[in-house]
Amino acid sequence: MAAQWRRARASLAKWCPFRLRKPDAVRHIGQMLRQYELVEKVKGYDPEADEDLLNKAYVFSMKAHGTQLRASGDPYFSHPIEVAGLLTDLKLDDETIATAILHDTIEDTLATPEQIEKLFGGNVARLVDGVTKLSKIEALTENERAAENLRKFLLAMSDDIRVLLVKLADRLHNMRTLHFIKNPDKRRRIAAETMEIYAPLAERIGMETLKAELEDLAFAELRPDARDSVLHRLRHLRQGDVDLVDRIVAELTQVLRAAGIEAEIFGREKTPYSIWRKMERKNVAFEQLSDIMAFRVHVDSLPTCYAALGVVHGAYHMLPGRFKDFISTPKPNGYRSLHTTIIGPERRKIEVQ
Ligand code: MN
Repeated sequence: MAAQWRRARASLAKWCPFRLRKPDAVRHIGQMLRQYELVEKVKGYDPEADEDLLNKAYVFSMKAHGTQLRASGDPYFSHPIEVAGLLTDLKLDDETIATAILHDTIEDTLATPEQIEKLFGGNVARLVDGVTKLSKIEALTENERAAENLRKFLLAMSDDIRVLLVKLADRLHNMRTLHFIKNPDKRRRIAAETMEIYAPLAERIGMETLKAELEDLAFAELRPDARDSVLHRLRHLRQGDVDLVDRIVAELTQVLRAAGIEAEIFGREKTPYSIWRKMERKNVAFEQLSDIMAFRVHVDSLPTCYAALGVVHGAYHMLPGRFKDFISTPKPNGYRSLHTTIIGPERRKIEVQ
């Protein structure tokens, strides 16, 4: 654990030069999640959830933000509701959802911590306070910030991971709506800090998908030209073949089943940013770019995982130098898996984890 913190601290120290400030001109996409929809969603995965708490938070936040608008002209209230919606996708508990709904009330409205505590209890008050403290760091001047930043992020992480989850969802919503900000310098600054601070934080706590989306949204802002080239190449490689990922999943499932291994397999196309980074790191030219899909094979035990690897290597050619054993050597965030790259079904080069 101590080594893990040391590594986290070392990385954070590197991120600190970047500015931390919040965008004030974002717009939500699509229709705002209604009060009953939000409550139903939480009830759907947690029947025990405190309905009153969620309803009260919704009404309180709506009233507190009142007629406040994003610079885009949308009601400010749509933002915390979208953030809460993102966290229901992760099936988080009622206190976290209430915190998301309330996360900007202390900083941006007349609401007080005492009010929050009285109405929503000590836990929610503490969580909202945590998120507010992280946001305040964003307002500090450059010099004060370096040390402050680092300490508070780490405190937040060790104190209650839910604070960090709300902050990351807040950032994701702001990134998804980044293009509504008119000032290009501001957009770039937000994208840079997302790349340098928030994406690595998401990775630290094992949220790979969130990390990938944050990075790719930042990439779209920082290097639109590069991202377009990757997308262009991806379209070429796909050649309109939309079922490819599904066909490969089906074949891999079949191959493993024939060897007596039941596995759940998930396939995806890699994000433009992860492809770009790999190309840069390995000095690969566009023409050589072929490794664009990744597959996850979930099995129920550790020996089965090694057995599945054996079956896959037995059925397809593996690419030398690409095998990694994160079971015997887990990643700092605790991730354990086997990684390999093969010339797989339909002679496609794919990564299998
Ligand atoms: Mn916010």
